[in-house]
Amino acid sequence: MRLLPKSAFGQTVLLIGVLLLTNQVVSYLSVTYYFIRPSYQQINGLIADQVRVVLTESIQTRNLQQRSEFADQTGILFFNDEEANRQGLQAATYYGVMSNAVSRRLEAPAEVRLGLIPTNSDFSQIELNNNAYVVWVKTDLAPDTWIALPMQGLSEADFSPLTMYLIVIGILSVFGGWLFVRKLNRPLQQLEAAALNVSRGDFPEPLKEDGTSEMIAVTRAFNKMSRGIKQLEDDRTLMTAGISHDLRTPLTRIRLATEMLPEDEEWVKEGIVYDIEDMNAIIDQFLDYARQDQTEQRELIDLNELINELVQVRHVEENHKIELGLTPLPTTLIRKIAIKRVLDNLIENAFKYGSQSIVVETYLLHKPKRIRCCVRDFGSGIEEADIDALFSPFVRGDKARGSAHGIAGSGLGLAISKRVIDQHGGHIKIENHPDGGLIASFDLPVIQTSR
Ligand code: ADP
Repeated sequence: MRLLPKSAFGQTVLLIGVLLLTNQVVSYLSVTYYFIRPSYQQINGLIADQVRVVLTESIQTRNLQQRSEFADQTGILFFNDEEANRQGLQAATYYGVMSNAVSRRLEAPAEVRLGLIPTNSDFSQIELNNNAYVVWVKTDLAPDTWIALPMQGLSEADFSPLTMYLIVIGILSVFGGWLFVRKLNRPLQQLEAAALNVSRGDFPEPLKEDGTSEMIAVTRAFNKMSRGIKQLEDDRTLMTAGISHDLRTPLTRIRLATEMLPEDEEWVKEGIVYDIEDMNAIIDQFLDYARQDQTEQRELIDLNELINELVQVRHVEENHKIELGLTPLPTTLIRKIAIKRVLDNLIENAFKYGSQSIVVETYLLHKPKRIRCCVRDFGSGIEEADIDALFSPFVRGDKARGSAHGIAGSGLGLAISKRVIDQHGGHIKIENHPDGGLIASFDLPVIQTSR
């Protein structure tokens, strides 16, 4: 199980939290050891001394008049159990540590309780602050007497500013950390989004150079890299389109020349025409790749309908069999011609490199809602190690290369398909089926309104 958060945000908040906690613990221990404990010992000492004075003077045994005078002068009162309960003893809290400290000092067992003074008690005659505390002490030295010592100036409120201070500092530090990390993360998120766009072949406007100096340096480097990639892409596109276009003319001329061949050399003519058709198909793919059909508008399309249209065309060719397993799908915004090209390419490959009969299936996936289309053939599949490379332009599998049995192609079909699917925010995948053959599949997000 991983306990440490992965994100910079989580790690910074955790770091601040740990530092703060350490700080709080150290502050707490310092305050306890250097302020509260000495004061506490002094208070316990004073309580014990007062009790001892009261007991040596045997005040509790004197008459009411004398006790009342003593209470006026010192604020100390005496009660038996019953009377003490009425005066607020019941609501007072027993303090073991205080009891032990006082017992030690008195050298006799003592019980110490601490409570607030009730409003209509005998204490109200004595001049006391609001919320003043009373320390109740009972010792074996005077077993039936509760001695009540009002404590002026001891109040819980004295401790709350410290607690409040620690809480406020804690909240402010975490909030500050959160603001800092958010400021740091925002340009990073923009950078991430822009990098994803570049990987899909969209080149965004240069990012605004903003934030910390390190962030500005990274953004500047990214903008430079993005410009460089775009330049490379443009040059390659121009070159591919130029060469393809220029090849058309000589090919047409060769084709015309074959018409001049004598009749008894018909087989030569057929061979040349066949090769020219292959070359034209390859040039078409080059041009497709170069054109990057980004301008085609997206429309709401049912992928199943698109598949049905394509399958109709394919059925015209004898030997080719397509078994369909289509699940009803919602319509989604796609570039119709581009997606049709992807489907056509996957089906074409399945027949070309796989088997004469293939299966095309669609599914609807939930969370997040996506459409999936799988094209399966029953051929010999592809070497696992080669699969990833096949999505790169101009890469062809071993079977396609053999000169004698070579199958014409440019190695661009899957690269074009991947680019189209990426541009739609989808994902394309090729995998060998465990029972043999290949499954080429792609997912598309279900989008019904243009953002
Ligand atoms: P091309 O068909 O022009 O060679 P693609 O990009 O469409 O280019 O395909 C790249 C390579 O992937 C092909 O050369 C072939 O080796 C391999 N391939 C594609 N589909 C299949 C398939 N269904 N079965 C086996 N190999 C395939």
